[in-house]
Amino acid sequence: MPEIPDLEVIKAFLNERIVGKEAVRANEVRPAMVRSLAADDFPSDVTGRRFGTVSRQGKMLTLPLEPDRLLVIHMMLTGALQYCTPDATVLKRTFFIMGMPDMDLRYLDERQMGMVYYVRPDQLPQVPRLEEQGPDAYDGGLSLDEFTAGLKPFNGEIKGILTRGKFVSGIGNAYVDEVLFAAKISPFKRRKELSAADIERLYVAIPEVMDEAINILRERMVPDIHVKVRDFLKVHCKGGEPCPRCGHTISEITANRRLTSYCRSCQPGMLIKN
Ligand SMILES: [Zn+2]
Repeated sequence: MPEIPDLEVIKAFLNERIVGKEAVRANEVRPAMVRSLAADDFPSDVTGRRFGTVSRQGKMLTLPLEPDRLLVIHMMLTGALQYCTPDATVLKRTFFIMGMPDMDLRYLDERQMGMVYYVRPDQLPQVPRLEEQGPDAYDGGLSLDEFTAGLKPFNGEIKGILTRGKFVSGIGNAYVDEVLFAAKISPFKRRKELSAADIERLYVAIPEVMDEAINILRERMVPDIHVKVRDFLKVHCKGGEPCPRCGHTISEITANRRLTSYCRSCQPGMLIKN
């Protein structure tokens, strides 16, 4: 699923290109993806509006359609935005298209798991999960003390705490493996077992891992922002390969249908079977 690095690149890419442009065409290729709370006539209500500055909160992107509509996109596992010329082939699983005079912005979703809301600004509280998310993991708003205090109420394994989005938002199953690898913390370590030094390494690792990924993705995703690029990650999905830090073989475990990759040598800790 798109996580902070992917979404940051998509956001910056769109903000360089669409802000101020008019949506001159809009159509739903497949209905039932967009939940419109603002107007009965989505997508025609979009026509004539201008794109505002895209913002990101956790794993959700908000695209303003000026003056008084917002499209809130939670891509979940397989959602994507494609920016292409209007004559580009409409890919399978395209749900809706918003056309500017010279370019299209299209929403695709392989497994139709994403959630897209078309709302007025005052309806934002009705968008599920938007306001229940924890503080964004990348916006730099948390001091180390706040990060440490915020972590305290959560119990269980650190990987689960980081991905659930209540403690901090925007980190998913792929980048959490990278963050824990960078911080040298076992994904199975319980919050109560983390030392102050562990928490500080985690606090430092999150923005470092995100920045490094954003720099790579900026080169690799543009202009095909709908294509997911993950092959450069250090441990996630690299089970059986040598650890780039110590050479030990990377371990891979699937639990609850989620893959966890880590280095048992760099990230020591007991694996407790539930
Ligand atoms: Zn290692």
